[in-house]
Amino acid sequence: MKKVFLFGLAAAVILVFSFGAVETCPAKVTYVTIGTGGVTGVYYPTGGAIGKIVNKKRKIYNLRVTVESTGGSVFNVNAVMAGDLEFGIVQSDRQYQAWNGTKDWKDKGPQKKLRAICSFHPESIVLVAGDDTGINSFMDLRGKHVNIGNPGSGQRGNSTDALAACGIDWKKDMRAEGLKADESAKFLQDGRIDAFFYTVGHPNGSIKEATSGRRKVHFVPVTGPCIDKLVAKWPYYAKAYIPIKFYPMATNKENVDTFAVKATFVTSADIPDDVVYAITKEIFDNLEDFKKLHPAYGVLTKQNMLEALSAPIHPGAMRYYKEVGLK
Ligand code: GLU
Repeated sequence: MKKVFLFGLAAAVILVFSFGAVETCPAKVTYVTIGTGGVTGVYYPTGGAIGKIVNKKRKIYNLRVTVESTGGSVFNVNAVMAGDLEFGIVQSDRQYQAWNGTKDWKDKGPQKKLRAICSFHPESIVLVAGDDTGINSFMDLRGKHVNIGNPGSGQRGNSTDALAACGIDWKKDMRAEGLKADESAKFLQDGRIDAFFYTVGHPNGSIKEATSGRRKVHFVPVTGPCIDKLVAKWPYYAKAYIPIKFYPMATNKENVDTFAVKATFVTSADIPDDVVYAITKEIFDNLEDFKKLHPAYGVLTKQNMLEALSAPIHPGAMRYYKEVGLK
C-alpha cells in the first residue's frame, strides 16, 4: 500500500514537473527588427503596421516583430547587410542601386545577399519651400539654403540626382544641409532653411507640420526638360503628383507634379525561410486590414505589391507567392 502510494506520489511529482517545464519553457521566440525612417514619415508606421499584423499570431509562429526608427533607406540596406537589422523598408531606387552596386554602393559593390519581399506605397519627391524665398521652380534653387536630406536617407539620392540632371552643383551652387527628415519642418518654419527635399508617401506628418505653421509654404513642382530626361533614363523613376487634398494649409491649390519611387520591403538571404514566409503570409492574407492602417496604402493590390523589386525575391516569400498563385 505504502509502496503504491509512494510510486503514485513520484509519478505525480514527475508529471507536475514535466508540465511545469512545458509551461515555463515555451518554444524559443525569434525576435526580428524592421528598420524604418523618421517617426513622422510613412516607413515608421509601415513597420508598425507589419508588426501589428504579424504579432497577432506570435503564439503560432513564435515570432515577435519590433520596429526601429532610422536614418532611412541607405541606412536600412546597410544594416540589413551587416546583420544589425533583419528587415528594412527601402526606396525601390535604393534597392536597385544596392543590388547593382551603384551610387552609395559604388565602393562596396553589389549587395548580393539583398533579398526582396514586396513593395508598398508610392513615394514622391517632395520639394517644399517658404513663400517668401522666391523659389517657384526647380531652377530657382540656385543660391538657396536647402536641405537635401541626411546621408543614409533615400531622398538624398533623389535630390542630388535631380539637381545634377538640371545642372545645379549642390556643393557649389547652393547652400546644402544634411538634416534628417524629422527636423526639416521645424527648420523651414523657423526660417533656418529656404526649402527641403523629402521622398515620402502621403499623407505624412512631416509635410503636414511643414505646411501648417506660421510661415506660409508651398510645394515646388519638380519638373522641366532635365527632369523628363532623368525619369526617362532610370527604370525606377516615374512621373507622379502630390495630392494637395492632404495638405490644405499649403498655398498651392492644385496637385503638384513631380516624380516618384516606391517603398519596398527587403531582407537578407541569411534570414530563415520560415520567418520570411510567416511575415509575407500575414501581410498578404490580411491585406484589407493592413490597408486600413495608413491612407497611403489605398492603392495597394496583391499584384502591384510584387512590382518595383530589383533584388531576387527571398525563398520564404516566394513559397507563399507560389502557394497562392501570385507567381
Ligand atoms: N523615403 C525615405 C527614405 O528612404 C523615408 C520616408 C519615410 O520614412 O516614410 O529615407
